[in-house]
Amino acid sequence: MPIKSRIRTIPHYPHEGIQFRDVTTLLKDPIGLRTTIQEIVTRYQSIKIDKVVAIESRGFIVGAPVAYALGVGFVPIRKPGKLPAETIGCEYQLEYGSDRIEMHVDAIQRGEKILLVDDLIATGGTMEAAAKLVQEMGGEIVECCFVVDLPDVGGRAKLEKQGLKIFSLCQFE
Ligand code: 5GP
Repeated sequence: MPIKSRIRTIPHYPHEGIQFRDVTTLLKDPIGLRTTIQEIVTRYQSIKIDKVVAIESRGFIVGAPVAYALGVGFVPIRKPGKLPAETIGCEYQLEYGSDRIEMHVDAIQRGEKILLVDDLIATGGTMEAAAKLVQEMGGEIVECCFVVDLPDVGGRAKLEKQGLKIFSLCQFE
């Protein structure tokens, strides 16, 4: 388990009762980082992907090297007010409150095949909002890819019910 065993769990962060899965211990490890990127690239290298769209901020760490290795473009989805040109946005409920994400309106073209990337899926609220932005711009989502899935929280099941394909490198109960 070169990936799961390198992810550290921080109890009661950022709130009492939350088990935070800390991927910085995976990313700082050369084998951990390389294996993470390679496993994702291997999965998608023979599938038509036009762009990788990743969610701020840990999604960028995984999404950018995946896009580079696949030889496709990279699109950031960011927190409000961070993108300089015209954006579309979506409000969503987070595991720890509510938030909003934004994407440039010209980031993807209608019909482009999109791989969505983030570090972790819990409730699925963040990825659900990201998927809405991509679909609003006419992008076709190939799959939503995560390093970690927390299946007990139910995000994966919720997004699959909406017809999205979900892939994760590891799961924590
Ligand atoms: P969701 O919207 O699926 O409930 O939460 C996923 C989002 O919150 C992701 O963008 C992820 O970065 C962050 N997140 C929530 N819980 C954790 C956690 O335990 N570990 C990490 N690394 N990120 C988390």
